Amino acid sequence: MDKQYDVIVIGAGPGGYVTALKSAKLGFKTAVVEKDKPGGTCLNRGCIPTKAMIHATELFREMQSAAEYGIFAENVRYDYEKILSYRDDVINKLVSGVGQLFKANGVELLEGTGTLEKDGSVTVHSVEGEIHCKAKHTILAVGSKPATVPIPGLDSEGVLNSDEIFKLTAVPESLSIIGGGVIGVEFASIFAALGTKVTILEALPSILANMDKDFAQNLKMILKKRGVEVHTGVQVKEIKKEADGVSCIYLDKEQEESVSSQYVLCAVGRVPATEGLFGEGVSLSMERGRVIVDEHFKTSMDGVYAIGDLIPGMQLAHLASAQGICLMEELAGEKRSIDLSVVPSCVYTSPEIASVGITEAIAKDKGIEIEVGKFMMSANGKSLISKEERGFVKILADKETQKVLGVQMMCARATDMIGEFGNAVANGFTVPQLLKAMRAHPTYNEAVGEALEDVFSEAVHAA
Ligand code: FAD
Repeated sequence: MDKQYDVIVIGAGPGGYVTALKSAKLGFKTAVVEKDKPGGTCLNRGCIPTKAMIHATELFREMQSAAEYGIFAENVRYDYEKILSYRDDVINKLVSGVGQLFKANGVELLEGTGTLEKDGSVTVHSVEGEIHCKAKHTILAVGSKPATVPIPGLDSEGVLNSDEIFKLTAVPESLSIIGGGVIGVEFASIFAALGTKVTILEALPSILANMDKDFAQNLKMILKKRGVEVHTGVQVKEIKKEADGVSCIYLDKEQEESVSSQYVLCAVGRVPATEGLFGEGVSLSMERGRVIVDEHFKTSMDGVYAIGDLIPGMQLAHLASAQGICLMEELAGEKRSIDLSVVPSCVYTSPEIASVGITEAIAKDKGIEIEVGKFMMSANGKSLISKEERGFVKILADKETQKVLGVQMMCARATDMIGEFGNAVANGFTVPQLLKAMRAHPTYNEAVGEALEDVFSEAVHAA
């Protein structure tokens, strides 16, 4: 064996790199194997690039309506190359930050593809050759890649996945997006703001189908107002290459329709990225391509664990990181510091969308008796000031214990404000406990106070 460690992590995405850092901080001799750039999907082709592009394109959209505030900016225009170089600067800073953290914490970065062998060792296939390593604990954190669907013509030129769309060097004139989930609606927002004619084709009855239905209804209206065509309950049957683009042929209530566009983005979910991961004779228990783990992240192979997008569950960067931290705490004989059952999920549209805990639909399904408090942002001063009046804060509490069980927010800064409620749900805080805290005026957060009041009585500012 060339190298011996306490912990080897395969994959340096938000799951793997955080696990490796936590491992080193807990005193384990740690190596992390990465075949591409540290930071994984999240930093390089996911969370960070999309949010940088949303930040820039929202600024552009807002500047176009600056006259509403009495500010006249003539000839507001954009330079897409500059937007991309701003985005890439952000990525590079964060990626190099991960590298520096590895060095500062004594994590050894092994560059190459990691393969788990039958005897539990790891072979790293690097440009210099093979390195054979062994560790007491091996953690698989290889993440995911864009999924495909069996639509004829999906391999046509002009059909892109979420990795490929980042590589476009010019803004498309038109874009059809197959899939109205989080990734689909975020790209729709980015390109619609830059003037692309965007069409969303979603098979389920609504966009953001896994979230509270109020989000989908509001967002659909907002997207339409911004020129995005949204077709839900439609089945894409075929994609055809055309002289100047691609067309999607789809069934809408059994009626065949088609939409032509310069590009098609296929955003139909993600599947685990396991190519090259398993050596000869290695077969872990899997379910739909994902590695099955027990509640301690143990796979079916002794000493081998898995976290993040590779395992069943929500595919989110903060969940992958939190799983890695909890796993390392347990391997070090400590108690978990994070409640992994409380996972905030966010959509970075404008206004932002954020949710944590249960929704009304889940409460109904599970027969949980709840009281709901709601406050509309149209009555919130800060929202009026910033002309971001569409949206709401909805708080669900247990009827008997008054504990907060779930929160849905659609408003400016919702993705930041949801933090308070992750805390509340994880710690079992009640509505009266949360109402003890005064909220500053004028803030978007005042709507939280009003929605809390509305749960068991009536909001002061309710009509
Ligand atoms: P990954 O981030 O996929 O990292 C896995 C790493 O393992 C990669 O670096 C890969 O190169 C490496 N690897 C794979 N196989 C091997 C091997 N055999 N040997 C060595 N290295 C290997 N989540 C959020 O929470 N918020 C968001 O706003 C958000 N936005 C997103 C936007 C987009 C467009 C996409 C695609 C995803 C987004 N996500 C978001 C999801 C988030 O990116 C993932 O949930 C998260 O990156 C998963 O982390 P991970 O560590 O499990 O895997």
